[in-house]
Amino acid sequence: MLTDVLIQENILEQIQECFIKIDFNWNCLYANQKAIEFIEKPLNEVVGKSIFQLLVTNDVDILNQNLKKINLEKTSINFELYLINKKQNVSIRFFGGKTDINIYFTPNYIDNQFYKAFKHSPVALSITKIEDGSIIDINNQFEKLFKFNRQDVIGNKITDLNIIEEPLDRIKFLRMLRAKGNVKNYKTNAVLKNGSVINIDLSSRIIELNSKQHILSTIIDISKKEILTKRIIKINNELESKVNHRTWELTKLLERERKINEMKTNFVSSASHEFRTPLATISTSLWILEKYLKPYQTNKTAIHFNRIQKSIDQLIKILNNFLSLDQLEQGKVKNSNSKFNLKKLSNEIIEDIACSLKKGQKINLIHFGESMVFTDKNILKNVIINLLSNAIKYSNENDEIELNIFIKHKNVVISVKDNGIGIPSQDEFLIFTRFFRAKNALNIQGSGLGLNIVKSYVELLKGTISFTSKINVGSQFTVKFKY
Ligand code: ADP
Repeated sequence: MLTDVLIQENILEQIQECFIKIDFNWNCLYANQKAIEFIEKPLNEVVGKSIFQLLVTNDVDILNQNLKKINLEKTSINFELYLINKKQNVSIRFFGGKTDINIYFTPNYIDNQFYKAFKHSPVALSITKIEDGSIIDINNQFEKLFKFNRQDVIGNKITDLNIIEEPLDRIKFLRMLRAKGNVKNYKTNAVLKNGSVINIDLSSRIIELNSKQHILSTIIDISKKEILTKRIIKINNELESKVNHRTWELTKLLERERKINEMKTNFVSSASHEFRTPLATISTSLWILEKYLKPYQTNKTAIHFNRIQKSIDQLIKILNNFLSLDQLEQGKVKNSNSKFNLKKLSNEIIEDIACSLKKGQKINLIHFGESMVFTDKNILKNVIINLLSNAIKYSNENDEIELNIFIKHKNVVISVKDNGIGIPSQDEFLIFTRFFRAKNALNIQGSGLGLNIVKSYVELLKGTISFTSKINVGSQFTVKFKY
């Protein structure tokens, strides 16, 4: 009998399959070399040990059931089990005899696509049993992230390993998972094997494996992201306070500038008022003087009388501009709308302004559409006079100037076109700025206030003003508004 056993064992040593013989208490009686290699323990540590200890499996129940089957029913068995080996996961096919419990198996190292994907996923993954929280599998990234070896983890409980720092957090997470079946992007802290703590983004889902519920979890280390986010928030805050400080400084500067401007305008407007009376006196006296001296007048005296009168007119114009500006700034200019004939008004303006035309200059009125408008007559008159005065001033003798009027369905377009000196393109963006004068206009008299005032007037009419210009070719200013 003994020799029989020896012969049998000798034969079993030769075969390429794993072979384990167990008694009815599931303890190992014998294991062949192949099985020893698989279990990775010397024979003396294997014999006498329970099969459940030797073949760590996540499916103890199935193994148990099948072993019972051989024991009770003396049937042969043939089933496949997925076993967790400390080193690698394997699937094992079991064959059992009828009379005794001999287990033959060939480890079949799991090598399917999905398992490979699980193993080599760049995200840390773990599978735990839902019933007791024991870890049945982890992937390489999990080992790398938590600095645990498979041996430290497999079969152990998440709670024993203290992976999630806050127990209450873990309980809360599990409660959510049980209620919904999955939890996404749960932010918590995890403890590594070396005790250091990292911020993780944990997502889990309940899955079924071998008809049992398990938790599949993905763990992403977001510590760096958190640090970056904190840094960005800090930088943002610093920037914001810098911007606030600068804004405060700028507001102060602007306020100072506003005050200085206000003082300047106040001074200019009160000075303008003061100048108007003596100017009026000069003008009247000049007129009287001209009358007295008429009998003695020569060509030369006439030229000088004319010059004095022109200079007075110019001064009055400048003073009027200052005063308009002051009134506009103080909001004193209010619209007073009425219905009037714009075509007629345009003709009147052309007649009035004729005295300031240069030699040979001519203003052509081109009118399309309706004639009547409903708006502030004085404001519109000032706008047209200002634009025409500029066209006259900045174009040459004998040049023609066009005043175009177009009125349709309450839309009004007025444009003044000249063939004058034009505006240098680099100066265009400043043209409506107060006191701005283009480089090519410096030797022509002016204050740089007219267009600024025109713009404010057009705004009062809720309209727009634009222009096109080409140096030495001419300019066209266009005002549009709706009434
Ligand atoms: P002013 O004519 O008194 O200088 P404005 O505010 O009316 O002031 O005009 C500002 C500047 O715009 C002028 O100095 C001139 O350089 C330019 N400008 C205005 N109208 C014309 C025009 N029709 N042709 C050429 N340049 C113009």
